[in-house]
Amino acid sequence: MSNGFVHAVRGMNDVFGDQSWWFDRLELVARNLLATYGYTHVRLPVVEKTELFCRSIGEVTDIVEKEMYTFADRNGDSLTLRPEGTAGCVRAAIENSWLAAGAQKVYYLGPMFRHERPQKGRYRQFYQFGVETFGMAGPDIDAELIMITARLWKQLGIEAKLLINSLGSANDRSAYREALTQYFSAHYDLLDEDSQKRLHKNPLRILDSKNPELQALIQQAPQLTDWLDDHSKQQFSGLLAQLDAVGIPYQVTPTLVRGLDYYNDTVFEWVTTELGAQGTICAGGRYDGLVTQLGGKATPAIGFAMGMERVVALMQLAHAQQTPAIQVYVIASGEQAQQKILALTEKWRDEVPNVGMMVHHGGGSFKSQFKKADKSGAHIALILGDDEVTQQTIGVKFLRNDQEQITLNWAEVPAWLRCQITND
Ligand code: ATP
Ligand code: MG
Repeated sequence: MSNGFVHAVRGMNDVFGDQSWWFDRLELVARNLLATYGYTHVRLPVVEKTELFCRSIGEVTDIVEKEMYTFADRNGDSLTLRPEGTAGCVRAAIENSWLAAGAQKVYYLGPMFRHERPQKGRYRQFYQFGVETFGMAGPDIDAELIMITARLWKQLGIEAKLLINSLGSANDRSAYREALTQYFSAHYDLLDEDSQKRLHKNPLRILDSKNPELQALIQQAPQLTDWLDDHSKQQFSGLLAQLDAVGIPYQVTPTLVRGLDYYNDTVFEWVTTELGAQGTICAGGRYDGLVTQLGGKATPAIGFAMGMERVVALMQLAHAQQTPAIQVYVIASGEQAQQKILALTEKWRDEVPNVGMMVHHGGGSFKSQFKKADKSGAHIALILGDDEVTQQTIGVKFLRNDQEQITLNWAEVPAWLRCQITND
């Protein structure tokens, strides 16, 4: 606190260095992948009216009960920093009449805010990459979303396990809810305080409890699967058949109920044991009732969101090294060389636009410049001295193997660079 330094808000982190590199990589790969499946990017507000989240997420949920950043704006309206993306996306779909144009497939990414206890993998500002689809009743679209995530893990070089369940319809759930309330009431004394509170308000949420002491009781509770109607059963078996057809393994998990109220039928989570307690990297589900609940016309919908910090952490565990963005480091020494180097490299960039080429700035001895070149990850150093300027040549030193140094004429450089890049 001395010197009046103002720290960041607890649980809200700066992303830089290695972590930032992996974030960018995840973002790039995920965006490209979604584009190849025909999904379009939407940018949505970070702030919405509080009521939107209360009405969609549900009053008796962790998020609405205790995690929202809610404040009165200068007009006195109650606003909330978005704790998740689905509610805002549904609002946008209704507000902008996306649904009139037929089925929609969109994705978004950006910060979400929840007032939770900060710990590894759990922050107050965190990033989600989310996908939402509207107007398709499934189960083929449910399968596509899971296939996209499976392909994403493959492209990122990480592994996760798929847990899947069906929550059935609202009707199925209310019959099940009674059975569940009876069961837990009979074991009231074994419940923790949270679960006792939830018993009559929302007993399904007890199944979601992370309390290890409750797990045995939860395992023996009646299972929702036994309450599903024919339609839900068909949806679920249809989805599982699609996953079997492409060889995506899954574990049917009857206790998977998800922490939000708006889901029906398909719910799924991708989990890993490599990140400790915060092991869910991606979660999703069908929410056919939400569009009407928020004032739109009945529209089937399904989506998922992944926690980007957790996916990034997995990527960092799985990969020792980054792919360097810089292939070529350019060193100039001597007055004429320093004057010439930018004009030269700019010309080469015109001709080889995708070359990762960093020009050394700030002078220094050859030795210190070579150190920087090495640190940059580049495998080639281009070296320009005053003699080279006179001869219109440049020296090439290979930084990652013992190939001998060569000299190129300036005119040869673009073609040579192009060749180096494609050889990668
Ligand atoms: P959890 O059980 O870990 O609290 P959740 O069910 O509250 O997760 P969702 O609302 O389904 O999470 O959000 C989707 C994903 O976003 C999660 O699976 C997780 O990867 C990530 N996520 C959720 N909350 C946080 C947080 N506070 N910090 C970092 N990532 C988070
Ligand atoms: Mg949570």
